[in-house]
Amino acid sequence: MPDLNLTLELAFLYDLQQIDAEILTRHKKLKLIPDDIRKLKEDFRVHEQKLNALKDQLSQAEKEQRSQSAEIEALGEQRKKYQTQLTAVKTNDEMKALYKQLEFIDQQEEEIEDKVLELMLIIDDLGGETKKEHEILAAKNVDHKAEEAELQKIAQGIKADISEIQEKRQNLIQKVNPDLLKQYQGRTTTQHTHLDLVTPVVDNNCGNCKLTIPPQMLNEITQARKKIACPSCKLILFELPTFEQPNDTTSE
Ligand SMILES: [Zn+2]
Repeated sequence: MPDLNLTLELAFLYDLQQIDAEILTRHKKLKLIPDDIRKLKEDFRVHEQKLNALKDQLSQAEKEQRSQSAEIEALGEQRKKYQTQLTAVKTNDEMKALYKQLEFIDQQEEEIEDKVLELMLIIDDLGGETKKEHEILAAKNVDHKAEEAELQKIAQGIKADISEIQEKRQNLIQKVNPDLLKQYQGRTTTQHTHLDLVTPVVDNNCGNCKLTIPPQMLNEITQARKKIACPSCKLILFELPTFEQPNDTTSE
C-alpha cells in the first residue's frame, strides 16, 4: 500500500510553492508600476524643458529686438542733431563732414533694420513653435493623468489579488507538515522567496529538471514510504494525487 500521508504532505507543500510563485509574479508586476509612472513623468518633464527653452529663446529675441529698435531711435536723434547743425554751417568742409556723418547714420540704420527684420522672423517662428509645444504639453498632461490613474488602478488590482492569495496561503499553510514547512522556509533566496523543495513526477520525468526517473525509483516514489530526492536537482519527488489515474505503476 502506498503511503498516502507522505504523498499528501508533499502535495500540500507543492501547492504552497505554487501559491508563493503566484504571489511572487504579482509582486514583480507591482514593482514595475512605479517605474512606469516615473517614465510618464520623465517624458512630461522633457517636453516641459523644451517649452521652457523655447520661451527663453523667444524672450531673448524680443529683448534683442527692443534693443535694436532703441538704437534706431538713437540714430534718429543723432540725425536730427546733424540736420540742425546743417542749417548753421559756415564752410563747405563743415557741410561735407556733416553729410558724411548723415550718410554713415543712414548706413547704420539700414544694417540695423535688416537685423530687426531678421529678428521679427525669428520671433514669429519661435512664437509658433512655443504655441505648438504648449499644446503638446497640455495634451500630454491630460493623457498622463489618465495613464497614471490607470496604472494606479492596476496596482490596486494586483494588491487585492495578492491579499486574496495570501488568505488562501494562510489556510493552506496549516495543512502543511511543520517539518517540511520549516525545511522549505529555510530555502530563502536574496529576494525573500523560497526555492522549491518538492516537485511532482510528470510523465516519468522530474517535474523540475525533466530527468527521466528510473523505474525502480518511480516505484519507490509511488510507494511513498520515505522521501526520495531527484538524483539531479535534489528536489523531493512525489506523485500528484490524481485519483482517476490508471494504476499502471503501482503493481507491487
Ligand atoms: Zn530533478
